[in-house]
Amino acid sequence: MPHLSPQIDQPASPYLAELCEQLADRAPLWDSTQSWPRESLQACAQYGVFRWFLPKENGGFGWTPREIAAGYLELGAACLTTTFVITQWVAAVKRLLASDYEAFNSVRQQLLEACLRGESHVTVGISHLTTSRRHLERPVLRASAEAQGYRLDGLSPWVTAATFADYMLIGATMDNGEQVLLLVSTRLPGVTVEPPQALVALSASCTTSVQFENVFVPHSHLVAGPRPDVLKTSRSTGTGGIQTSSLALALAQAAIAFLQQQTGQRPELQKKADQLDQQWQVACEQLMQMADGDPVCSNEDLRTDANSLVLRSTQAALVAAKGAGFVEGHPVGRWCREAMFFLVWSCPQSVQDANLCELVGISN
Ligand SMILES: Cc1cc2nc3c(=O)[nH]c(=O)nc-3n(C[C@H](O)[C@H](O)[C@H](O)COP(=O)(O)OP(=O)(O)OC[C@H]3O[C@@H](n4cnc5c(N)ncnc54)[C@H](O)[C@@H]3O)c2cc1C
Repeated sequence: MPHLSPQIDQPASPYLAELCEQLADRAPLWDSTQSWPRESLQACAQYGVFRWFLPKENGGFGWTPREIAAGYLELGAACLTTTFVITQWVAAVKRLLASDYEAFNSVRQQLLEACLRGESHVTVGISHLTTSRRHLERPVLRASAEAQGYRLDGLSPWVTAATFADYMLIGATMDNGEQVLLLVSTRLPGVTVEPPQALVALSASCTTSVQFENVFVPHSHLVAGPRPDVLKTSRSTGTGGIQTSSLALALAQAAIAFLQQQTGQRPELQKKADQLDQQWQVACEQLMQMADGDPVCSNEDLRTDANSLVLRSTQAALVAAKGAGFVEGHPVGRWCREAMFFLVWSCPQSVQDANLCELVGISN
């Protein structure tokens, strides 16, 4: 397919700013379940964003984790909804790439090529294996083995972009406690994608639950497992990786930039804006070191700091924007709502505990 836009094949590309400007201009439009960010995702595809995450042998640019983190910081500051949808695509694709099953090779290659051409979209429904519905006695989504594949019954409670996706990477649990990851078409008989849920923020991500009633998935679509803790043992990154922190820091960056811009006419804000900026620089430095594989802190500590920073900086921006920022349509109000998403998205228990301690005002 001919590329209509210049490809952003490295984070230093001047075209990244051009794309981000387009994303930021459209970001206010994506604020309801009726406004899927199609044009913004198409722009990302045209500029080659989906190629950042794939190795060269799969048609990607083979960006390093540091380059990806840098890219996320820019995209997320411009439009969190679009960037969040992309992260769920990436979460699925990483696990497809990590699959060891030869029978899956040709399915994977065809799907990746279709995704890069913008003809297909894949997303992920795995949180019920990690952070959702874990207190229930029985798994919400059950897989049973059959001679030719697996049968799924139950619910995947959270699937972003489910309404528009062609495929979902779905995690399910077997009666013996082992887990599988399966690539499931949204059009298979027995699959019901519920209407998108209206959310506090990011409603346009068209996130919803998906029901599975006696859904048969052939062996050729088995991505990983069956084994215990299928997400931890696959080669791809686990829950609570640095990507969630990158997005939190991206949104914090947008709020701090707003504060800095206000200091032009309001010098009394300067010290506060600089203080947040300094904290942001420290967190970003840690993010980049972790992206390089240097464990300067745990993923959870980074995420805890990023969560704190995004909540404080968006609310500081609201204080500066005053009542005008509280009126619907002002970006600062939207950023405050979006910041709360990081309190619930893919939050391991230790991050939840640390967030709660900060909110309650006790040390962790
Ligand atoms: C906008 C959005 C998009 C998302 N997109 C995706 C996606 O694309 N893919 C994906 O895999 N995941 C996704 N997630 C899931 C996310 O990563 C978390 O797993 C999810 O937010 C956890 O919330 P939960 O309500 O499911 O948690 P749960 O733990 O299931 O809590 C649900 C309710 O159960 C009760 N409860 C919780 N713990 C206990 C307990 N110990 N005892 C008794 N009652 C309890 C509480 O009343 C709680 O409100 C998304 C989440 C959101 C909000």
